[in-house]
Amino acid sequence: MTWHKKSSTRPRPASNGMNLGMNEVRVRFPPSPTGYCHVGTARMAILNYLFARKHKGTIVFRSEDTDRERSKGEYEADIIDSLHWIGLDWDEFYRQSERTEIYSHELDRLVSEKSAYISEEESKKEPGKMLHVVRLKNPGTLITFTDLIRGDITFDTRELGDFVIARSLSEALYHFAVVVDDALMRITHVIRGDDHISNTPRQILIQEALGVERPLYAHYPLHLGSDRAKLSKRTGDVSVRSYREAGFLPQALLNYVATLGWTPPSGKEILSLGEMVQEFDISDVHKSGAVFDIEKLRWFNRQYLLQMPREEFEATAQVELEKYVAARKLLWDPEIGRKLAPIVHERISVWSDVGSLVTNGEFDYFFSDPTLVSAKIPEKGSGAGEARRHLTTLHDKLSAAEPEIFSLPERLKDAVWEYATHEGRGKVLWPLRYALSGKERSPDPFVIASVIGRDAALRRIDAAIAAL
Ligand code: GLU
Repeated sequence: MTWHKKSSTRPRPASNGMNLGMNEVRVRFPPSPTGYCHVGTARMAILNYLFARKHKGTIVFRSEDTDRERSKGEYEADIIDSLHWIGLDWDEFYRQSERTEIYSHELDRLVSEKSAYISEEESKKEPGKMLHVVRLKNPGTLITFTDLIRGDITFDTRELGDFVIARSLSEALYHFAVVVDDALMRITHVIRGDDHISNTPRQILIQEALGVERPLYAHYPLHLGSDRAKLSKRTGDVSVRSYREAGFLPQALLNYVATLGWTPPSGKEILSLGEMVQEFDISDVHKSGAVFDIEKLRWFNRQYLLQMPREEFEATAQVELEKYVAARKLLWDPEIGRKLAPIVHERISVWSDVGSLVTNGEFDYFFSDPTLVSAKIPEKGSGAGEARRHLTTLHDKLSAAEPEIFSLPERLKDAVWEYATHEGRGKVLWPLRYALSGKERSPDPFVIASVIGRDAALRRIDAAIAAL
C-alpha cells in the first residue's frame, strides 16, 4: 500500500461526493468489536454503504480491535453477521490488531522527524511505574474542516496541548491508528456519528504531522432511544441480533434504520436497498437527531410481511405457530396451522407476535376444545332455552350439509345465514362463536369452524348444548 500523500498542486475534491471527478470514493466501516452489533453500528454502515455504492466506490471494513481487554472475536463475528443479514457487504477487510507494526513504524517516523516526542510519565493506574508515552507536537493552530452535513466547523487546537498518541512506541492509541489507516486505505470520506466531531481536530493534526491528505467528513446526528436518551452500544436490547431474534425482517430493519434521519427525495417510505442507493445524497441526511421508534419499525415490518409471497409466509407461520403451540403443551396439528396462516397474517406485525397470540391463550381454541362457562353461552339478555334451541338447529343444519362446506368460512355462513337473520344474528351466532372458542372475543364462528374442521366443530356445539 502507498500513502495517500498530501499534494498542494492537486485540487481538493469538491465538497460533495457527486463531483469527485476522477477520485475514487473509498469509505470505511470501522466498528470497535466491544459489544454486539448495535443499531448505531448498522446505521453507520448503511449510510456509508449508500454513499459508496451510489458513487461506485469501495467499502473497507476495518475492525478496530485495539482495545485488547474489551474487544472479542465473538463481537466481531456478530457485527459481520448482522451487517450481512441486513444485506450489506464490503470490498476489503482489515483488523487493526494485525497492523500494530505499521503504527509503530509511523510513530518512529514522527519521532525522528520531531513531529512527536517520547515523554516519560508516571502511570496513573499504577503509581510508581514510569511510561514512555508518545505525544504529538501540537502547532496549536485553528483548524477548520468542511462537514458535508453540518458545514464549516472550526476548532482552536491550542487547548489540546501536546496530546498523547501512543502508550508507547509499540502501542498506538485510537486516534493515531485511525488516521494512519484512513491514509493507507486511501479513505476519501469519513461518514460517522457526531459523537466523533470532537475527535476530528486531533485526527487532522495527526494527518498534518504525517503529511497525508485530509478526507472529507460527514458527521450525522446520532439517533436517540424513544425515551430520548442516547442509545448505548452495549445494551443488548438495541442490538441487531435482538431484533432478529424477535422475528423482524432484515429488509424492514434496513429500510427503517436507513430512513431514520434521511428522507429520500421521492418521499417513498418503503424502499429496497437498490432504490435507496439510487436516491441517496449525503446532503439530505437530517441535521437533527431522529428518535428510534419501535412502533414505526413494527409498521415497516408489517409492510414487508404483507409483501411476502404467500407460500413463504405460510411456511414461516407454521414454524412459528408450532414452536409456541408446543411450548404451551397443546397438540400441534399441521393442517390447522396451515389454515391459521391468513388469520396470523391479519394480526401480526412481527413474527414474535405469533408468540404473544399463542401465549396469551388467544389461539388455544384452535388446538384444544375450550372449557365452557354455561352462563356465558347465551347472548346477553337471552335465555339458556333459546340458546339450546339455536345450537340444536345449527348442529342439525351443519351436520346435514355436505362436509365440504367446512373448508370455507363463506360456505358455512351460507348454510346458516338465513336462519340467523330470521332469528336474530346475535342470538344465534353468539352461542355458536362461544361454543367454538370459549372466549368472549375471537374471530367469527365461520372462520373458527373452517379452521378446526367438521368433527371438532360439531363436537363443541354438542358440548355447549350439554352444558346448558
Ligand atoms: N471505532 C470507532 C467506533 O466504533 C469509530 C471510529 C471512526 O469512525 O473514526 O466508535
